[in-house]
Amino acid sequence: MKFEILTIFPDFFRGPLDYGIVRRAREAALIEIGIHDLRAFTHDRHRTVDDRPFGGGEGMVLKPEPIFECLESLAITPREQRLSSTANETVVLLSPQGELFTQSVAQQFVQRERVVLICGRYEGVDQRVSEFLADREISIGDFVLSGGELGAALIVDAVTRLLPGALGNAASSQQESFTANSGDVVVRGEGEPPSSTCASGGLLDYPHYTRPADFRGMAVPEVLVNGNHDEIRRWRRRKALEKTLRIRPDLLRAVELSSEDRGLLDQIEAQQENVEP
Ligand code: SAM
Repeated sequence: MKFEILTIFPDFFRGPLDYGIVRRAREAALIEIGIHDLRAFTHDRHRTVDDRPFGGGEGMVLKPEPIFECLESLAITPREQRLSSTANETVVLLSPQGELFTQSVAQQFVQRERVVLICGRYEGVDQRVSEFLADREISIGDFVLSGGELGAALIVDAVTRLLPGALGNAASSQQESFTANSGDVVVRGEGEPPSSTCASGGLLDYPHYTRPADFRGMAVPEVLVNGNHDEIRRWRRRKALEKTLRIRPDLLRAVELSSEDRGLLDQIEAQQENVEP
C-alpha cells in the first residue's frame, strides 16, 4: 500500500513516521510513503504556494496549481473512476470541515492500494481542490490545527496498523477500541446476536495490567490472576461496557449486544443507581 502526502513542509514527516509499527511496516515494504513538496510544483522565483483570498478577508490560501500539478505527476486514476467503492486509489483533503476520521474510515482506506493525503495550511486550500480534485474531506477532530500534516501522519499510523502483517499479533487490531465485528465472536443459538468475547466489538477497550501484581499497594484486580479464563473474559467485557457507557454512550447504540452483554449492562446500571444519591 502506498501513501502519497502533499505538503509545503516535507521535513515535518521526519520523525513521526520513523518509529514503531510504521517504521517496521516501511522496512518490510508493507507500506511506502511518498512525500511531495508542493513548492517543487511552482514556477516562480519565490516558489509561491499561497495567495490572498478573492473577496478579501484574513490570511492566505493555498493556490490550486501546485496541488493539481503534483497530483497529475503521480498519474493518479481519474476522479470519476476513483469514486467507485472498489477503486484502488483515493484522494483526501485534510480539513477541519471534513467528515470525522474514525476507525471505520481507516478500515475503508486500508482497502485501497494508494491513499493521497493533501495537507492544507494558512486559512485553507483553494475550494477547487475540494470540489474538483479530492474525493473527500477528512477532519481528525473538532478543533483547528495549523496544518494538515499532523492529521496525515495520524491517518498513516491508524491505517498501517490495520494492514495484515503490520502488528506482531494480528488479533490485536481486531480487538481494539472502536473495532466492530471483532474477529473471534462466538455465535450462540439461532437468531441470537453473537456472544461477546472480551474484545471490543465496537466498544472501548477493557483495562490492561502487567507485572508487578502489586505496585506500591495498587493491586491488579484479583480476577486477572486467578487463571479462570471465562471469569476473565466476563470481567473484561463488563469493564469495556462500563467504560463505554460512562464515557462514550453514543458508541453503545451501534454495538450488537449479546444477551450476556445486556445482562451485564443491567447489572452496571443497577449498581450505578445504588451508588447515586
Ligand atoms: N480556515 C479553516 C477553517 O476555519 O475551517 C482552517 C484552516 S487550518 C488553519 C489550515 C489547514 O490545517 C487546513 O486546510 C487543514 O488542512 C488543516 N487542518 C486544521 N484542522 C484540521 C482538522 N481538525 N482535521 C484535519 N485537518 C485540519
